[in-house]
Amino acid sequence: MRTIGILGGMSSVASAEYYRRINEGVNAHQGGHSAAELVLYSVDFGVIEGFIRDERWDQAAQYLAERAQRVERAGAEFLVLATNTMHRVAVELQDAIGIPLIHIVDPTADAAIADGVHTLGLLGTAPVMEADFYRARFAGFGLAVIVPPERDRAVVHRVIFEELTHGIIDDDSRREYVRIMRDLVGQGAQGIVLGCTEISLLVAPEDIPGTVLYDTTALHVDRAVRISLGLDPLSRAASAPA
Ligand code: GLU
Repeated sequence: MRTIGILGGMSSVASAEYYRRINEGVNAHQGGHSAAELVLYSVDFGVIEGFIRDERWDQAAQYLAERAQRVERAGAEFLVLATNTMHRVAVELQDAIGIPLIHIVDPTADAAIADGVHTLGLLGTAPVMEADFYRARFAGFGLAVIVPPERDRAVVHRVIFEELTHGIIDDDSRREYVRIMRDLVGQGAQGIVLGCTEISLLVAPEDIPGTVLYDTTALHVDRAVRISLGLDPLSRAASAPA
């Protein structure tokens, strides 16, 4: 089994999901008492939130690169960054380490392509919905991404930082997310990317019947489990589009 490295704490709520789901995933394949070999490094989310709020991406890259190196030194054979937003500095992280970074967009794009989808709606933090790094990665797979209008992007972003990253699950927020997702479907989205690693704690497929949800946490976890167990090659992950 290859040792999985998780660079997490962004938020700790999401990392707990990664930890639980990776162990469950390995056990589902292996049975018995089998569980994952992994290294988890959890950062101070207060520092990260400041970097995001002030758009200090260079400092974020430096901070996370140093911690990614610690994960590598601890024995991880590949790295998963347990947040969509901080993939804003994925290139810098990959450059700083000698092990492959498994980009969260790649398994998500693969799942959409397997479903024959070509246009995706996207919910996530403001950087995920608005900056180019995330959409460009999907474009590299030939997938188009549409995002909510500015007012609704603000709602999605606020719920992530004021509620989900604190472990708060609110019914009104769920209703707002469902409305926003329905609007994206009305604009031509054939599926919705839950492009924030906490969103699947708020919305589930049964909240929006008939619409396929691409849960980045689940898809990232599944890819990590498969690579760890040798079911997906590490080389393929490393050579995906930049
Ligand atoms: N976990 C969230 C994400 O997937 C937001 C928190 C963060 O900014 O890292 O983007």
